[in-house]
Amino acid sequence: MATDVKASGDVGAGDAGRDFIRDIVKADLDSGRIKDVVTRFPPEPNGYLHIGHAKSICLNFGIAQEFGGRCHLRFDDTNPVREEQEYIDAIKRDVEWLGFDWGKHLYHASDYFEQLYAWAEDLIRAGKAYADDQTPEQMRINRGTLTEPGRNSPFRDRSADENLDLFRRMRAGEFPNGARVLRAKIDMASGNINLRDPVMYRILHAHHPRTGTQWKIYPSYDFAHGQSDAIEHVTHSVCTLEFEDHRPLYDWFLANLKVPSAPHQYEFARLNLTYTVLSKRVLTRLVQDKHVAGWDDPRMPTLAGLRRRGVPAEALREFVKRIGVAKANSVVDANMFEFAVREVLNKTAQRRMAVLKPLKVVIENYPESQSEELEAVNHPDDPAAGTRKIRFGRELFVEQDDFMETPPKKFFRLSPGVEVRLRYAYFITCKEVVKNDKGEIIELRCTYDPATKGGNAPDGRKVKATIHWVSAKHAAQAEVRIYHPLFAKPDPRGGEDFAADLNPNSLDVLSDARIEPSLATINSGEVIQFERQGYFCHDVDSTPAKAVFNRTIGLRDSYAKDVAKG
Ligand code: ATP
Ligand code: MG
Repeated sequence: MATDVKASGDVGAGDAGRDFIRDIVKADLDSGRIKDVVTRFPPEPNGYLHIGHAKSICLNFGIAQEFGGRCHLRFDDTNPVREEQEYIDAIKRDVEWLGFDWGKHLYHASDYFEQLYAWAEDLIRAGKAYADDQTPEQMRINRGTLTEPGRNSPFRDRSADENLDLFRRMRAGEFPNGARVLRAKIDMASGNINLRDPVMYRILHAHHPRTGTQWKIYPSYDFAHGQSDAIEHVTHSVCTLEFEDHRPLYDWFLANLKVPSAPHQYEFARLNLTYTVLSKRVLTRLVQDKHVAGWDDPRMPTLAGLRRRGVPAEALREFVKRIGVAKANSVVDANMFEFAVREVLNKTAQRRMAVLKPLKVVIENYPESQSEELEAVNHPDDPAAGTRKIRFGRELFVEQDDFMETPPKKFFRLSPGVEVRLRYAYFITCKEVVKNDKGEIIELRCTYDPATKGGNAPDGRKVKATIHWVSAKHAAQAEVRIYHPLFAKPDPRGGEDFAADLNPNSLDVLSDARIEPSLATINSGEVIQFERQGYFCHDVDSTPAKAVFNRTIGLRDSYAKDVAKG
């Protein structure tokens, strides 16, 4: 299991003042209201985790680490229709990858189904829950609206005995789906709709990933959540703002049941990012409708997608730390996330040369039979990363974009008659442009100055550009996948019509890239800086015949520009 001690950054124990939730925890510890802090991360296993969940994970696990408490991983698996083992496995993998360890504290709401059932019977006996036979449509109409109170169900005043009998028969599987529900008897006129006799149990003849077909009824999220926290002695039940209106109900159940502890719920603002939709429902649709290649498609904001794209877990933790935890909803600029990614990769990624769109260069005064080894630095700021040998020869590839036949004024790279530096190698001058029948440039004839080996001229003359290159004979071929934002708008619609805002050009595949030979055999997932291009990660789709690289991120901010081009 992952144990990354750096997960909480350099924050010391009891780092109050970083956000209002940590302030509350600190105050509760200082006042002695609690002895140890217990938090939990409670995903529903109905999809993969996304970058928004990373915020919640870092917050809950981070607080536990910083204050010497513990954080549980609990699956809120109360809806078997949408939940799958694949999601459970993926969620565990992603939390570990992010650098957190739940130790032995892995739980499921389904662990508590028997206890929850017993509590439901207690409420029935106390006259605080009833079986309702209204149709879903009638229930909806009678619930009222924000401005109108609801109406009592005609079944609200059944006797406890009758309710108990019906509820037991619901459990026994005597009734079809939707025939009736069990509701809490609270207040149909409450200003808070969540308190208008909320559903506690529904009939569902469905296979559950953990309990199989044992149960014919399943608790609602609202009936399971707070009591699960209480069973686990969670002290601070941290969730996103949309549950603020559920807190009175959460507290009502805890007050009306003999629960073993009294957790408190605190709400914080969920993460929203520009150009990104963070809704599991939409992400599921993206996968199901094949807008992307899968949950781990590198364009997805899922943790699996970000990992495959080459985003380091450290960058996610750092990003979450920087955005902080607030009480008001806001949208974070995606460039801020990219900034954190670049910052980590700039430190950690080794440098190599790769030519994404190759243009052949022939050095006319370099002997045909000759080639030589030159020394290249693996990381400019980290001497410990060492150096490597790269092959130079008569035939090279440079980037098509680094040449212009008739350059505008500010173009200082290669063009006819102009001298540039080849990184780690020599100065070259372009002498002639070779074209095919269609008038396309297919080759540059150049000369090199042998006295400039290593990249400096003994006579002190300067060149205005340094470009990257690979040896045509020694380079390996690769496919490079360039990703652009999945959505073309900074504020994409997250509802049913999400597809209208998709960026039609979110993926460019460059199938004829040329890379330093050593890159063909690096580890999957390893991130490298291709000099002057960005950060790239070796993808699992690679084969012995052809390496595949994902561009994790370019060297500079790209969001607005990228989409404009797309
Ligand atoms: P949906 O995306 O459909 O709203 P969900 O992400 O809320 O579903 P859960 O599995 O219930 O699904 O989420 C687990 C936890 O992660 C919850 O405590 C939830 O509050 C938190 N969470 C979910 N989305 C975000 C987000 N964007 N930012 C911060 N926390 C989030
Ligand atoms: Mg949720």
